Amino acid sequence: MDHNLSAELRELRRTVEEFAHDVIAPKIGEYYERHEFPYEIVREMGRMGLFGLPFPEEYGGMGGDYLALGIALEELARVDSSVAITLEAGVSLGAMPIHCYGTEAQKREWLPRLCAGEVLGAFGLTEPDGGSDAGATRTTARLDESTNEWVINGTKCFITNSGTDITGLVTVTAVTGRTADGKPRISSIIVPSGTPGFTVAAPYSKVGWNASDTRELSFSDVRVPAENLLGKEGRGYAQFLRILDEGRIAISALATGLAQGCVDESVRYAKERHAFGRPIGANQAIQFKIADMEMKAHTARLAWRDAASRLVAGEPFKKEAALAKLYSSTVAVDNARDATQIHGGYGFMNEYPVARMWRDSKILEIGEGTSEVQRMLIARELGLAS
Ligand SMILES: Cc1cc2nc3c(=O)[nH]c(=O)nc-3n(C[C@H](O)[C@H](O)[C@H](O)COP(=O)(O)OP(=O)(O)OC[C@H]3O[C@@H](n4cnc5c(N)ncnc54)[C@H](O)[C@@H]3O)c2cc1C
Repeated sequence: MDHNLSAELRELRRTVEEFAHDVIAPKIGEYYERHEFPYEIVREMGRMGLFGLPFPEEYGGMGGDYLALGIALEELARVDSSVAITLEAGVSLGAMPIHCYGTEAQKREWLPRLCAGEVLGAFGLTEPDGGSDAGATRTTARLDESTNEWVINGTKCFITNSGTDITGLVTVTAVTGRTADGKPRISSIIVPSGTPGFTVAAPYSKVGWNASDTRELSFSDVRVPAENLLGKEGRGYAQFLRILDEGRIAISALATGLAQGCVDESVRYAKERHAFGRPIGANQAIQFKIADMEMKAHTARLAWRDAASRLVAGEPFKKEAALAKLYSSTVAVDNARDATQIHGGYGFMNEYPVARMWRDSKILEIGEGTSEVQRMLIARELGLAS
């Protein structure tokens, strides 16, 4: 599958594969059990340049693109998804909006530290009353002309990377006015961590992604300078739709990694575990299950790489990104279920990586657009608008 990658991308894949195997695999289970954010691993990922992969060198990035990011995410998620989602959210949701829509001053202020992984960024779109219907945002931002500041009020929920010791900013979407026909004008505004009135709740207790940081955020008369507006006033909705289209490719690469990790673990276990006097992998029932798992991981990889290649080439990629996200998250859940079955009772024990993969798989059908939302997007691209 590497045959059509450049030598640089092949090298990147090998480097991240080694890092995941040598550094993440031995430690991550304990972080996960303790529900602890793995600062040490994230710092190392920063040193490797992973947080800067798709950004220009002039801002401290590696000068790569979404294909490079996807390759790194896939290799990380083959071993662990908490670490992979920390990178995905840090890059696609934290830094990418600033790179795509920021002023030169905003880019100079934030991107070098975000690319180095010294600071994490977060993206606050989802609210307690709705995530899929993102246009229904209730958070408001009013421009106080006497001080030239935005005054933000509202609540965001389920926000990744928003409360770590190294979180530097959250970009929040907020209603900044109404159009003549009463529709909300949504804008994106950068809120630095520690701004008075900006409260970060304790981490959620989650089913999976337990070494990743997810919080509820509240904003009570939070004041930030008018120049913290990201992009144009009223363009926030269009901006985040584009950011989410790209992010789906990254999540799809992550889901593919989890699906492949389930194959890796199952092949190993099927050779080691004996029942009825022979390895369980000698049974055709187990072999066929693993063959199907490999087929699904391989096809998911083709799907995300196709969407990423289109994005990199400047071609339309909305439908392909939704297809890739829908397919790869479905097969990640399938493979996690089958890998757990192959591991028998041990698959239900948290010390086995497949147990972690099982717990981490379900969110892939929900985050950054549910499977239903992907189907809506695909149908719309096929001209089936409701
Ligand atoms: C661990 C985690 C991390 C997250 N990180 C972030 C983050 O960093 N930033 C952020 O902004 N958000 C984040 N989210 C939020 C996530 O993107 C949302 O949970 C997701 O988009 C779904 O929104 P919701 O939970 O409000 O579900 P809802 O929108 O309430 O949907 C509930 C159900 O109804 C279905 N549904 C809704 N509308 C329709 C329809 N028209 N037709 C058919 N079915 C429909 C949905 O598919 C879903 O199954 C995170 C969530 C989790 C759990």
